[in-house]
Amino acid sequence: MKLRVSVGSAIALGLMKGSMKVEPGITYLMLPGICDAKCSYCTWGKEDYLSRVRWPEFDVELLEGVKNYCLQTVEKKGLERELEAVLGALGSKGDVAISYLTPERAEILEKNNVRQVGIGLDACTAELYKKHKPGLSWEKALDSFNYGFDFACHIILGLGESDEDFLRLTQSMKDKNVKLALFAYTPVRGKKPVGYISLRRYRALQLASYLIEKEKASIEDFEFEKGKLAVMPPFFDERAFLTRGCENCNRPFYNERAGTEPYNFPEGCFESYDLMQEVKEYLDSDNDS
Ligand code: SF4
Repeated sequence: MKLRVSVGSAIALGLMKGSMKVEPGITYLMLPGICDAKCSYCTWGKEDYLSRVRWPEFDVELLEGVKNYCLQTVEKKGLERELEAVLGALGSKGDVAISYLTPERAEILEKNNVRQVGIGLDACTAELYKKHKPGLSWEKALDSFNYGFDFACHIILGLGESDEDFLRLTQSMKDKNVKLALFAYTPVRGKKPVGYISLRRYRALQLASYLIEKEKASIEDFEFEKGKLAVMPPFFDERAFLTRGCENCNRPFYNERAGTEPYNFPEGCFESYDLMQEVKEYLDSDNDS
């Protein structure tokens, strides 16, 4: 049985040679095979890349007992059988990222002591979900949060949502005690772009959602103009700009090239950037350019 390993994780495990600017906080694994969901923004199936990351295949025996992993799943026939076999073969506790849960999927995760579950909601509204993820169901994804796991909700910013859409979703996830795992839409070579987000808009939304997650503010404390964030409570904490999601998940260079300003900082290396200035610029602007 084969399993994909992100190139950074493969280097950290000694399965490949290479150097890294930032070590992955956990080991990123992925089920093999082509995903049937065909989401508009996804590059999976093209030259082993998902977003900016390459995922070479290795025998699962080489990964037995690996600690602190996140297993990303792909929607395909026989997913449940394969998930059960892989979690059993890995043999240690880890996290799982999946599009949605069913009673069968939840039972497999529970039986294998999965610690945290990331649900790939990705879009902020039912309409955007339908547009970008036509092969999947918004209702099923949302219902997944009713199972008894420690959840992270994956959201990709830049798919056409308004700031208000995103922050209302953030509040509803906070009310369910679900953490956010934020991603920036990343256009990739060879595929027509389906979205866009500037760094300054991403910064403002990172900070605003952090305020809600940390209960420093609630949705009523923000003002919007036609859906765009216009006023937010005065607050600054650099931790808002760190990669967020499950514990220790830092996803280095998932959305950007090393050496460029990262959307999510995998660690506290903020010195060269005036992040609050980026937030202010966005609040003062009337668009996301
Ligand atoms: S937040 Fe990180 S560890 Fe959690 S499911 Fe998502 S990718 Fe995996």
